Amino acid sequence: MRKPIIVGNWKMNKNNAETEAFFKEVDAAAASENATYGIGCPFTDLRTAADNAKNLIVAAENCHFEDSGAFTGEVSVPMLEELGIKYCIIGHSERRQMFGDTDETVNKKAKRLIAAGMTPILCIGETEAQYDAGETEKVIRDQLTGSIADLDAKDVANMVIAYEPIWAIGTGKSATKEDAQNCCAIVRDQVKVMYGQEAADSVRVQYGGSVKPGNIVEYMACPDIDGALIGGASLKADSFIEIIEKTK
Ligand code: 13P
Repeated sequence: MRKPIIVGNWKMNKNNAETEAFFKEVDAAAASENATYGIGCPFTDLRTAADNAKNLIVAAENCHFEDSGAFTGEVSVPMLEELGIKYCIIGHSERRQMFGDTDETVNKKAKRLIAAGMTPILCIGETEAQYDAGETEKVIRDQLTGSIADLDAKDVANMVIAYEPIWAIGTGKSATKEDAQNCCAIVRDQVKVMYGQEAADSVRVQYGGSVKPGNIVEYMACPDIDGALIGGASLKADSFIEIIEKTK
């Protein structure tokens, strides 16, 4: 019932030439009726990515919630719309930790994206200290309470929420499939608490954190995991193609 969605997050990697080469190599493999595949890339690569994507969806990695103004270095949702971009990652833990994103600003970004008819890929997840202290469930519920506040249930139903434990990002220390499933089920339950059963049944929940060709299948087999947000393993065309082939 929920269409799986697997998205690479390139973070601050690749120039335009590398973007063009990647899309030319990978795009044909991403043709699938059963799943959606995409890449989140730096702002400077978005036009090249969009020009070379027939099957892959293209996501921005951030946006501002205001449309224009004195916000040096920021990019607005209308600017993304102009490029035909339909998805945007918001609230990634790197942005929360290094660039001051909060549940409140992430919520504003989600609202602005939804108003534009775009799909937010909203990231949440606990730190290693919170995991060790047994606070994971509380952190997930609290982050969602703030980040998806005051939305319409039908819009939440169409969102993508990425559960990414910070201790699993870029570390090679991926969550066990039991932990990942359990946390994605908590995400879905919190959506149910806030917006009801229908939104909870429809919202797509991704796991992210050291996902690679060798573990993608076991995550995708979990009932509450509808996809993945993939950093390192999305940078090389051959490993991303392998992930696509294993999940088509
Ligand atoms: P890695 O797949 O490199 O662990 O990164 C995960 C991530 O942060 C995706 O947003």
